[in-house]
Formats: sequence, C-alpha cells, structure tokens
Amino acid sequence: MAPVTQAITRFAPSPTGRLHLGHAASAWFAAERGRFLLRIEDIDPSRCRPEWTQGILEDLAWLGLSWPEPVRLQSAHLEDYRAALRCLEDMEVLYPCFCTRREIEEEVRRAGAAPHGAEGPVYPGTCRAMDPAERADRLAVCQGTSWRLDSAQATRLVGPLTWRDARKGLVPVRADLLGDVVVARKEIGTSYHLAVTVDDALQGVTLVTRGEDLFDSTHVHRLLQALLKLPEPAYHHHRLLLDETGKRFAKRDQSCTLQSLREAGVTPREIRERTRLPE
Ligand code: GLU
Repeated sequence: MAPVTQAITRFAPSPTGRLHLGHAASAWFAAERGRFLLRIEDIDPSRCRPEWTQGILEDLAWLGLSWPEPVRLQSAHLEDYRAALRCLEDMEVLYPCFCTRREIEEEVRRAGAAPHGAEGPVYPGTCRAMDPAERADRLAVCQGTSWRLDSAQATRLVGPLTWRDARKGLVPVRADLLGDVVVARKEIGTSYHLAVTVDDALQGVTLVTRGEDLFDSTHVHRLLQALLKLPEPAYHHHRLLLDETGKRFAKRDQSCTLQSLREAGVTPREIRERTRLPE
C-alpha cells in the first residue's frame, strides 16, 4: 500500500489587530488537517504592528496550537518576492500603474457599469493602454510605482487553468474576475497576492485552508503559480464563523478577541466548542 502522506497546512494571519473567534476557527481548521505551519503576513508596515504579532503567538499558544517549524515573517523575506516580481517582469506580464485611488474611482464611475470583483471595482486598465514612450517618461521621473498583472496577457501565456477546492470541486480559473490586480504596491514592492503565492510554494504547503471570503483570490494565485512554475496546492475554503446576529467577526470588534475572552475567564476548550465550523 502506498504510504499516506500528510498534508502541509498553514495559518497566515496579518498582524493588524488581535485575533478573534473567526481566526481561532480558521487556525484550528488548518491545524486539524495536516502538519501545521504559521506565517505572519506583515508586509504592510502602515497596518501591522510587532505587538500584534506577539499577541497572535500568545493567543495561538494559549489555544494549545503549536507549529513544528519557525514562524515565517513575511517582512523578513521581501527579497523572495522581489525575485518573483523580476521573473514576472521578464515574462512581460506586468505594467506600471500610476493611477491614484481617486483616479481609478473616477474612471470606474465614468465607465458606468464597470465590473465589480470580490475586492471592489475591477481596475479599468487605464495604464495598460499607455503609450510606451509616455510610460518610459513617467517611469523615469516617478519615485516608485505599483505594478499590475496584465491578466489577459498572462492567461494567453499559460493557457486555461483550473484549481481544486474541497467544497466546490474543480474550478476553472477566471482571471477576469479580479482583473489586473496589483502584484507590487508602490510603497511595499509586493502585495498580498504575490507574497502568499510565493510563500505557500516556499513553505511546501500542499493544502491551503482559508475562509471563503478569499475564494476569488485563488484565481489570481493559480495564475501566478502557473507563470512562476510553482507547484499547485489543493484548497479548502471554509465557511466563515458567524456571531449570534449572523455577522462575521471583524478585528474592529474588540469584544470577541481571544485576549478579552481569556481575560474574562473563558477557557480554550470553550473557545474550541464555539468555533466549530459547519462543513
Ligand atoms: N493574511 C490573510 C488574512 O489575514 C490570509 C491569507 C491567506 O490565508 O491566504 O486575511
């Protein structure tokens, strides 16, 4: 009989606040499905704080979770994301974007029925169509810029793709869903989409578990994997934990942080009971 190989799973919170019950549910979901790794997604220094990273480690240890490998802090690996970015640049699937948020909003409003993706309006492609001479002039004088993935060009290069989700089965990649996402933000030089794709591969993750709110992002991640020739993990986008009123937990709601529950005398076992996710 072939040996049963254990999946490698991960929990990848961003330290933008204290963990809440929804995070506990997600962390357990991953920990119960394989060799469990922890990654701190702290690429954005304007939103992440070291004390929140510390809080995440404390909360997870209090819950009784442990991870066999050192925690991967994304902020300590920016060079890995730069290397991937260079690779994409060489493939000519990126273009610089000089638009401000407001310009994008105005353009979307002007276009009227611009499509909306899971992350808001899909970028209308303004800078993709820029004249090459103008692009070169602007690149020469700007102090850093963001880079977007030309999703149509990328799709032409790699051809049709699919990914497999434990709940939804085989999913055909639709690169148009999120459109030309930013793969490198101006101030950071990378983005959630790029860093998560690179790290899941570098950490050898074979089963990506995360909330279904991130389902559409996987279309982008699968495309990036194919471009960068990275292995394809399996996915399990789980349902989100809801509070008594049917709302999902959010970091801004401080009443249900694991820290405040701990201080109120709630035990890890009680938290475990309250955070079982429906299939
Ligand atoms: N860092 C992301 C978050 O906190 C999760 C990323 C992922 O699981 O892919 O929402």
